[in-house]
Amino acid sequence: MTIGTRNLTDSFGRTITYLRLSITDRCNLRCFYCMPQADFNWMEPTEILRFEEIVQLIRVLASLGVKKVRFTGGEPLVRRDVVKLIRDVSSLPGVEETCLTTNGVLLSQMSKELFDAGLRHLNISLDTLRPERFQAITGRDHFRSVWRGIEEGLELGFSPVKINFVMMRGKNDDEIVDFARLTRKYPLDVRFIEFMPIGKHSKWGRNHFLSSDEALKRIAEELGSLSPVESEYGSGPAEMYVLSDGIGRIGFISPLSHRFCSRCNRLRITADGRLRLCLFSDLEVCVRDMFRQGVTDQELAEFFSDIILKKPARYLSHKKDVPTCDRQMSSIGG
Ligand code: SAM
Ligand code: SF4
Ligand code: SF4
Repeated sequence: MTIGTRNLTDSFGRTITYLRLSITDRCNLRCFYCMPQADFNWMEPTEILRFEEIVQLIRVLASLGVKKVRFTGGEPLVRRDVVKLIRDVSSLPGVEETCLTTNGVLLSQMSKELFDAGLRHLNISLDTLRPERFQAITGRDHFRSVWRGIEEGLELGFSPVKINFVMMRGKNDDEIVDFARLTRKYPLDVRFIEFMPIGKHSKWGRNHFLSSDEALKRIAEELGSLSPVESEYGSGPAEMYVLSDGIGRIGFISPLSHRFCSRCNRLRITADGRLRLCLFSDLEVCVRDMFRQGVTDQELAEFFSDIILKKPARYLSHKKDVPTCDRQMSSIGG
């Protein structure tokens, strides 16, 4: 059935093919830079998008050209029946890639079911290989479960398996080379992400910031030169490299030091069903209310085709001299 006759091309000629959807604001970790320990107001269950709403949303977006869907959170694996959701979404016409961004704590318990549900693309967030430091960063003692989940994911055949490492000077930057070295032993994509000032309780500070250029230089000094790898269009903002003896790849995601807005192909929807046209813009449009009022697929398609024209050309640094936003990363989903 044809739902939308238009597609999602914005005013700057960028075609939107990628949706990042947060399916819960809850999490089983408390990363100090993402989720404040106290004073956290969880969303009410009724505020969160329901499964049938998510399926309608993705069915319509896929009819408009969205090919890739990433489930994120909070921690997406704590949402009940997430495996069923992944299975249902993976089988929707037009959805070519279903991906998951997870902290990996529940991965080893769930990896087989996730694989059987059709999931292949795994991003696991891991900022240290040291159990004590893991506890210090995340507030929980779960390093070993996460590492087991990564190894099992590779054994089961998930591909690609990506590790996301947020670089924080003075917190974990002494492990940058250790993470790069993992690509000699494992077929992993290890991606170094610049720490961003997201959320009004953000612990970001210039003193903790470390650029991709500095990380690349440190790795090359220790492990030898890195050769650039051509990345497919739409594969994301990471610049990819490989060590001369690497079986995995090394990537850098540089939202602060490099600009990839001209290639932006994504939309975000928060756990409470708010559309964000740009990560760093707090302009949000509530899609959830449309579902609760019985929106049809056709109406939803018209809505997205129109609203996409409001997507900004690039982040708007309206607050400081660095891009930022008020909403917590845990409810946007990264
Ligand atoms: N809980 C899941 C996880 O940690 O993978 C999914 C949600 S989490 C918000 C998504 C990603 O955002 C994680 O890789 C996390 O490290 C990253 N993130 C959170 N706050 C960040 C910040 N201030 N700067 C850069 N990355 C951040
Ligand atoms: Fe949870 Fe992910 Fe935020 Fe850490 S980064 S607190 S795992 S949502
Ligand atoms: Fe896209 Fe906004 Fe990120 Fe730029 S800052 S890449 S426009 S989401």
